[in-house]
Parts: sequence; structure tokens; C-alpha cells
Amino acid sequence: MKQKNIELILPPREAHWVGDGFRVHNFIPAYKSLSMKRLSPFILLDYNSKYNFPPSATPRGVGVHPHRGFETVTIAYKGKVEHHDSSGGGGIIADGDVQWMTAAAGVLHKEFHETEWSKKGGDFHMVQLWVNLPAKNKMNEAKYQAITNENMGKYYLLENDGLVEIIAGEYLGVKGPASTFTPINLFNAKLNKNAKTEFSFPKDYNTAILVIEGSIKLNSELVAENNFVLMANDGENFNIQALENAIVLIMSGKPIDEPISAYGPFVMNTEEEIVKAFDDFNSGKFGHLE
Ligand code: MN
Repeated sequence: MKQKNIELILPPREAHWVGDGFRVHNFIPAYKSLSMKRLSPFILLDYNSKYNFPPSATPRGVGVHPHRGFETVTIAYKGKVEHHDSSGGGGIIADGDVQWMTAAAGVLHKEFHETEWSKKGGDFHMVQLWVNLPAKNKMNEAKYQAITNENMGKYYLLENDGLVEIIAGEYLGVKGPASTFTPINLFNAKLNKNAKTEFSFPKDYNTAILVIEGSIKLNSELVAENNFVLMANDGENFNIQALENAIVLIMSGKPIDEPISAYGPFVMNTEEEIVKAFDDFNSGKFGHLE
């Protein structure tokens, strides 16, 4: 087993708003070095770094919009989000939970701060990750996986050093609850100051980490809060040490080696399929949502 080295450390870009409820730094694919291909199957990552929303009687968020061809994974660190979609699915996720929505053939959905949370306001801290689907599953039926913190796999480190939460995939024999279409590992490492732990993924898996809270040493390099690290495909093993109490999102997946044609909320394999997605959307085939 060889060490997996750091390819790039990237600071957050300037934030932009998605609707009026999500103040995000885009990492994938806005950075040239983080293209949809380079990090496949991860094709988009929007990071709402910790941001304080004042109380609001009207929940902030993003109104009805479509998706087709991939999955949206919302990881909540702080705050509460409510989702509704045209297939009747939806739910509320809060601090520590994950919502894994397979848009596949298509959904209309909306994403808002939960009403009661919105009235009080507070710190809001989330990630939305888009996971591509292989061509053979792009037109599957839409589905939801509500993954509460309770249901996540938990690997506890020794001596109160913290834990690794497994959302998808496997860490040292502990499995995560998410069902995925291609091999994916998605973990939150919640490490206490000075705790150190090792990760190992196949060399060809595209791998990245985002420091959600605190600062860490990755192999021997310092990585600051809110920074993103693209790992090289040159080995398997790397280690993370918390320099203060830290939360680190770790993603690693087998690349989907297929062409990507993307436009806005649609990610398909060909331009014809994008045109078809617009046609289907405009003719009401994505269903109906108020
Ligand atoms: Mn959406």
C-alpha cells in the first residue's frame, strides 16, 4: 500500500446565493481542476459554510426546480431543511442528518429552511453534493433516502478521540446505510483535538476532502477550515490529524467512465438527452408541484 498524496488544496471561492436560503461556495465544477470528469462520480459540490440567518417569518430557500440524471445529497451540519417533490416525497433533515435524493428520470422539488427553525433563525451549515448516475440508471424512478444521524454507521476511535460516521460505503468494517448505484464512500470524521486516523481507498477512486470545522494535518500538510483537498490517484492511504476539534467530510468513489453532457439541473450523457430533458420538463412530464 502506497501513500495517497495531496494533489491540490483549494480555498473557498467567493460565495453566491442559491435562491435566498443557501449561501454557497462552489468547489466542483467551478474550479477548473475540479471538473465533473476529474472527480466523477462527484459532479457538483456546493458548500454553505457556517452562516447566521436572522429570524424570518417566511422560510428562505429555493423554489420549484427540476433535476434529471443524477442524485442530490444534502448533508446538514447545522440548521433544518425541508424538501418536497413532485412524486410526493420529502422530509425534514436537521443537524447531523443526510438526505439522499435520486432524481434519476426526473423530479420537481423545492428546498426551504424548515418553518419553525426559520422563525428562530440561527447558524446554517450544509453541503450539497451531486452524485452522477451511470447511463443505465439515469432514467430510473426517483427515490429518497432519509438518513438520520442515528442510522449512520459509527466507527468509534480509541480513547475518546472521536468517531467516523459512515453515510455510504465502509470504514474499517462498519457500513453506511445509503444505497448507491456505483461504489461510493462518504464519511464525516468528527475528531477531537490531536486525534489521528487513517483512510484507505483504491488508487483509481477519485477522492477529496472538505474541512467543515477546525483545522487538520493531512499527511504532513496543514489544511485550514473551509478548504477543499483533491487527492492524487497515486496511492491508497492517507491520514488526518485534528489540530483542534474538527469535522472533515471525506468522499471517494469509483469514476463513471462515460461521457457527460450537463446543462443546469440536467446531467446526461449526450446533448440529445439534454434537449429531451428540456422537452419533457416543458411538456409537464416531470409532474406537478405547487
Ligand atoms: Mn435541487
